[in-house]
Amino acid sequence: MIPYGRQQIVQADIDAVVDVLRSDFLTQGPVVPQFESTVAQRVGSAYGFAVSSATAALHVACLALDLGEGDWLWTSPITFVASANCALYCGAKVDFVDIDPRTYNMSVEALEKKLEVAKKIGRLPKVVVPVHFAGQSCDMRGIRALAEVYGFKIIEDASHAIGGTYLGEPVGNCRYSDIVVFSFHPVKIITTAEGGMAMTNDPQLARRIGLLRSHGITRDRAVMTHEPDGPWYYQQVELGFNYRMTDIQAALGLSQMARLDEYVAARHSLANRYDKLLEDLAIVRPWQHPDAFSAYHLFTVRISNRPGNRSRRAVFEAMREAGVGVNVHYIPVHLQPYFSAMGFRSGDFPNAECYYSEALTLPLYPTLSTQQQDTVVSSLREVVKA
Ligand SMILES: *Cc1c(COP(=O)(O)O)cnc(C)c1O
Repeated sequence: MIPYGRQQIVQADIDAVVDVLRSDFLTQGPVVPQFESTVAQRVGSAYGFAVSSATAALHVACLALDLGEGDWLWTSPITFVASANCALYCGAKVDFVDIDPRTYNMSVEALEKKLEVAKKIGRLPKVVVPVHFAGQSCDMRGIRALAEVYGFKIIEDASHAIGGTYLGEPVGNCRYSDIVVFSFHPVKIITTAEGGMAMTNDPQLARRIGLLRSHGITRDRAVMTHEPDGPWYYQQVELGFNYRMTDIQAALGLSQMARLDEYVAARHSLANRYDKLLEDLAIVRPWQHPDAFSAYHLFTVRISNRPGNRSRRAVFEAMREAGVGVNVHYIPVHLQPYFSAMGFRSGDFPNAECYYSEALTLPLYPTLSTQQQDTVVSSLREVVKA
């Protein structure tokens, strides 16, 4: 089966991991801070906090922004459930903003309309989480302008988007947001097996995120409520978690960072090749906004449900049958039973639902060979035309 995504592990990655395994520190050693500063420098943020997953990063990001009971977090329905769950972890409530039908990212017009209504009924969000779908940045200028008017905070879920740019600058520099989150799951752009990172430029948020990922304890006297009992002393100043990344994982991530540009370039060249090879088929190919240079995590096409066409389901099943690991990104989060129990219904976010009914993700990863890609294309071609 040709998978929809997969990691590349080279000898340098293995050597870097083995070096840590032979060293004094498997965790809380020197490699995590090296990985953090390498990523922060690369994306142009002041701080980076490596954590055990992007989900953990979203959780501590919400807590650092004081999201809690009675607050609302808004995100896109076309995302992985984690972008919404982070609100529920904090006791806050979740709502969604419909997508733009071309980019599949949160629609700024829909956001603005929803904010106008929310203001009237006193239900403005405290935090908005735009998700850079498939690695293409949202319209961050537009979202930031609305944040200035309505006073919400912004966490960019950039799980798909490390290595991408927006208006010529790296995604992750926090120019338009309070916090940016990356994922290093093996299907994403670079990997640490499990892992994530929260980027920020704000020293106060940085302090909170640093505490929250490690039990809420500090050795910084300036933060303590009283004089240390002795040189061994640490103090718990709030309720945190163990969301730390290990040095083993950080070594893998640091080694992978050396190939970030190569990976994104390989994804682009394969995406461009798909684009040409699929030109004549009656499917919708990904649209690229001129403001964004995508990291191209996903290559998602739409199979129209018009009568006479093969349905998305039929195409999905036939391609899987042919050994092509197509996938669907994503099931709209508001239609998950756990969320519909909160009152969401089908019809609430029509662009997201229409997109979902047609979406099909084709395999895309740096080591996908052109022969494998040709297999994907001929299989899709055969099935769509049949
Ligand atoms: C993968 C992903 C996450 C979760 O990442 P983990 O590192 O697996 O926790 C969150 N949001 C989006 C959009 C993702 O694709």
